[in-house]
Amino acid sequence: MKNYKIAVIPGDGIGIEVMQEGIKVLNTLSRLNNNISFDFTWYDWGCEYYLKYGKMMDEDGLEKLKEYDAILLGAVGFPGVADHISLRDLLLKIRQGFNQYINLRPIKLLASEDCPLKNKGVEHIDMVFVRENTEGEYAGVGGIQKEGTKEEVALQTSVFTRKTTEKVMDYAFKLAKERNKLNKVTSVTKSNALNYSMVFWDKVFKEKSDEYKEIETESFHVDATSMYMLQRPETFDVVVASNLFGDILTDLGAALQGGLGFAAGANINPEKTYPSMFEPVHGSAPEIAGKGLANPIAMIWSVKMMLDFLEHKELGNRIMDAIVEAVKDREKLTPDLGGKATTSEVGDRICSIIEKMG
Ligand code: ATP
Ligand code: MG
Repeated sequence: MKNYKIAVIPGDGIGIEVMQEGIKVLNTLSRLNNNISFDFTWYDWGCEYYLKYGKMMDEDGLEKLKEYDAILLGAVGFPGVADHISLRDLLLKIRQGFNQYINLRPIKLLASEDCPLKNKGVEHIDMVFVRENTEGEYAGVGGIQKEGTKEEVALQTSVFTRKTTEKVMDYAFKLAKERNKLNKVTSVTKSNALNYSMVFWDKVFKEKSDEYKEIETESFHVDATSMYMLQRPETFDVVVASNLFGDILTDLGAALQGGLGFAAGANINPEKTYPSMFEPVHGSAPEIAGKGLANPIAMIWSVKMMLDFLEHKELGNRIMDAIVEAVKDREKLTPDLGGKATTSEVGDRICSIIEKMG
């Protein structure tokens, strides 16, 4: 019997609602399998906590989280707390503090009717973004000069270390091999305008592509990539991108797969020196929070990614099969997908499909 200790940070808004459903699925799986169980420890960190105690999480938060096998996060951010504070003091703190330098974001179309390109005959989309997650444009380096004067200047410096850039690209190439789909890695760049960071990025990508000769490579500027993702999404397999470019393009990807309600994510520390964290791409969506309107599939898919990472791929696949099955009955989905069901009804349905599949 393997028991996993999971830290649960539901966060704010719909994060709290979708987390319930993710946990429901894990409890269902452990009920059906005698060889796996989960101990959940809940942390009420987030914006409400900030408004009460003046901090997004405890000072020794990372120390506490270090002990777990994995972290599940709902979403953080809420009106009344500046986004850059909620992001920096919780999400970025964990990603950077635990060296979760890989952000994995699958973009897979489950039902062609969810794709905004359905009238163009697009039916097959199955790519995965490997986004650098700890440095790049989000390194937090910079400052304000001559603040408050007419000469005021804001500087935001990107940081690309060779160590991390190489590791991110290695991860992407290995993933392309493991997936064994198109056996291709696409690199997103902007070396015509960013003459230090992206020229460096291109150089490391070239070195790595020489190491993995069996994998096809291509390299596009970020503007062109966004166009190609719309024109021919089926030609992408693994896409490797910097923190900022990956952030933006994966929202575009989320739209291609039917919206943020489908967009799952994993923040991974591949060496397992620290726990990894699994969270949907979407935010706390304050205007639909507390109404049972949130689609829990992105959260449940993120839970699947956690099981994959914990080397329970068979269980992860069962979740994925259940999601694919659930998406077929359109009435029984949340309103973002045109259905009439509530958040918890969708969670219940996915659990009952898992149970039926045995
Ligand atoms: P944050 O600032 O925390 O990112 P946000 O207001 O930008 O929050 P997001 O959650 O990123 O909101 O999503 C933008 C919009 O997409 C939401 O306002 C909501 O309408 C929709 N949305 C996002 N996630 C979901 C979901 N799981 N189910 C249904 N709709 C969603
Ligand atoms: Mg947002």
